[in-house]
Amino acid sequence: MNYCDLAPSYIRAIAPYQPGKPISELERELGITGIVKLASNENPLGASPASVAAMQEAIKTIALYPDGNGFELKDALVKRYGVTHANITLGNGSNDLLEFAARAFLTVGDKVVYSDHAFAVYALATQAVGATGISVPAAKGFGHDLPAMLEAARDNKAKIVFIANPNNPTGTFLSADDLLAFMRGLSPETLVMLDEAYNEYLPEDKRYDSVPWMKEFPNLIISRTFSKAYGLAGLRVGYALAHEQVTDMMNRVRQPFNVNSVAQAAAVAALRDVSFVKKTFELNRRGMQQITDGLTKLGLEYIPSFGNFVAFRIGNATAMYRRLLELGVIVRPIANYGMPDWLRVSIGLESENAKFLGALEKAINQQVNGENK
Ligand SMILES: *Cc1c(COP(=O)(O)O)cnc(C)c1O
Repeated sequence: MNYCDLAPSYIRAIAPYQPGKPISELERELGITGIVKLASNENPLGASPASVAAMQEAIKTIALYPDGNGFELKDALVKRYGVTHANITLGNGSNDLLEFAARAFLTVGDKVVYSDHAFAVYALATQAVGATGISVPAAKGFGHDLPAMLEAARDNKAKIVFIANPNNPTGTFLSADDLLAFMRGLSPETLVMLDEAYNEYLPEDKRYDSVPWMKEFPNLIISRTFSKAYGLAGLRVGYALAHEQVTDMMNRVRQPFNVNSVAQAAAVAALRDVSFVKKTFELNRRGMQQITDGLTKLGLEYIPSFGNFVAFRIGNATAMYRRLLELGVIVRPIANYGMPDWLRVSIGLESENAKFLGALEKAINQQVNGENK
């Protein structure tokens, strides 16, 4: 028998998530070292020393189960955002939270709206519960078309709308005014999952605070993560802020100990280490300039990005991706995001960005000269 047939058709229809290639895998394949990975929007500075110290301390009590309610981390978030414990759901990465929203509120046949080229997990979480995803064509420049998404949500009586701001992999940004207009036009019976994984990277003149919006919009869920600017991707920790009834439902579908104790301790310390986030922001700003200047010099088109990564258009993207691998640089193909002619590169340290740009130039020249390798 084929055991795949035991799974519901909507599970069999899922295209698995394609993560960035790990450094260790490329090392095994090519037998080379000194590889630069700019494929998963990780923090090139690593984690903050304060959170590393907190992790070392937390390891001492690793034999004990974590606090299933995450009291201390929630308390730190309460102090930061002026919400209550009853507004917070903690997740094993913010990925977890996207799934909680889907599992808590969706069933077979429900409709979910998201944008073309939006973060892949929205479609995955939707499909995993047998709901129907409606992917709305992007606006000019690959961004979310909020008026079209509003219409799609209304016409289909969508239960959830997923919005990424900034979006990954495009880096596109929606202003506070546009988001508010969207929220005001939407039925309160439609939940909005506003995914702000890259919130900390927004330049000052674009920065907005969505947390107070929760008062006006009880259907708003804000999700944030410690994986990106806080440099804790390997630990898996994120949080969602929402109305207490929404939070109540999301908490019912999570595992009792979904966020481990080391992650909780590190996240508390990371939240306090404001200067590390600032340093990260500054490094990213300079690195973004370095990479986009380099792309321009190479005559390549890119999508202006508000995150810690940038998508650029390149002929033979798959072949170029492989050439870059051979040159020791891992970037991210985004054909599965409906962008087969584009690659996405994360912003790294100055030396890593330089290595990427050097490899890219070499790969382009090799292609022009018709060399195979
Ligand atoms: C990276 C990312 C996330 C979540 O990552 P976690 O590590 O699960 O917190 C969520 N949304 C977007 C748009 C992302 O790029």
